[in-house]
Amino acid sequence: MIPQGWSLGRIGNIEIKINISLAFIAFFVTYSLAARLLPGVAPGANPLLYWMVGLFSSFVFIGSILWHELAHSLVAMRYGIPVVQIVLYLFGGVAQIARDPERPVQEFWIAIAGPISSVILAICFGGLSRLGGLAGAACAWLALVNLTLALFNLLPGFPLDGGRVLRAALWQIGGSYRQATRQASRVGQGLAALFALGGIWIMLRGETFNGIWFLLIAAFVFSAASASYRAARGAALPLHTPVRRVMRFNVPLVEPNWPLAILAWRYLDHARDQAFPVMVGSDLVGMVTAAEVDRIPRLEWGKVRVEQTMLPRERLCLVNADDDLQSALEALEAKGMNHAPVFEAGRLVGMLNRRDIVYRT
Ligand SMILES: [Zn+2]
Repeated sequence: MIPQGWSLGRIGNIEIKINISLAFIAFFVTYSLAARLLPGVAPGANPLLYWMVGLFSSFVFIGSILWHELAHSLVAMRYGIPVVQIVLYLFGGVAQIARDPERPVQEFWIAIAGPISSVILAICFGGLSRLGGLAGAACAWLALVNLTLALFNLLPGFPLDGGRVLRAALWQIGGSYRQATRQASRVGQGLAALFALGGIWIMLRGETFNGIWFLLIAAFVFSAASASYRAARGAALPLHTPVRRVMRFNVPLVEPNWPLAILAWRYLDHARDQAFPVMVGSDLVGMVTAAEVDRIPRLEWGKVRVEQTMLPRERLCLVNADDDLQSALEALEAKGMNHAPVFEAGRLVGMLNRRDIVYRT
């Protein structure tokens, strides 16, 4: 679903890409402003000036979309979710985060951050529009489009931001991520159908271009909502399923005297969302995840050993392979953990990842 693009560079760790379809947006915005809107509100200026202000405003508009996506990204990163890239294209932007949020509250804040950032920008441009003249007219237009961007994205159909807010609410109320995804995707499909009807109606009124635009948005929202629905379609596991069904076997074991550099090089760099049991012989003495390693500056990874930064066994949440998912989840919540070593007959047999429960129930 993620469009391709050329890399513009990086902001922090996030690669910023632009898709060729963005050229259409830039042209369309420049043309609408320079040939129609600006001469209407601030008549009498040099035509070249209209085109220059139009072109500049189209870049600022594209920057506004990037700003919106960066807001989603910053909140995601605050929750420890890496952001791979931001792609700007025909329908705006998409911030590709490495994985879905694990908790409804995280999903809510990541989703709502985008529209909030657009409203803030709209208020700023609204203030600048008091400058008057050509610049003021361009700022008034930018205020209006940013407000429109915020309101459009708040429509409650998945995968729009408002649809993600809806999924977070349904997830919080019903407790099931998969069920909430299906419900929010269905609303997204319904919303797409409304767009399509609206597009046909607009075309019948003779505004062919606007009508086609509505139909394109309808097709985009419908296909994205349908893909999300299919991904969450399979039957969810009931919460009384035993841990054994979702745990990870064959987890790499780590020794307490390893320098962190060895851990990072062998395992951590390839599996940043995993937790590694720290073992002395067949005894579990602790657990280490990326969070503990990242607390140590990289330059010291050659000196600092795993046992100096690991979570010791007494702080861990230990579960049994026969426990059900409900009680495992409650135990994880009580200890504030995302991972639990799994035991069977007193022996460590694998690891349970909180995320594997969340996404499958
Ligand atoms: Zn957004």
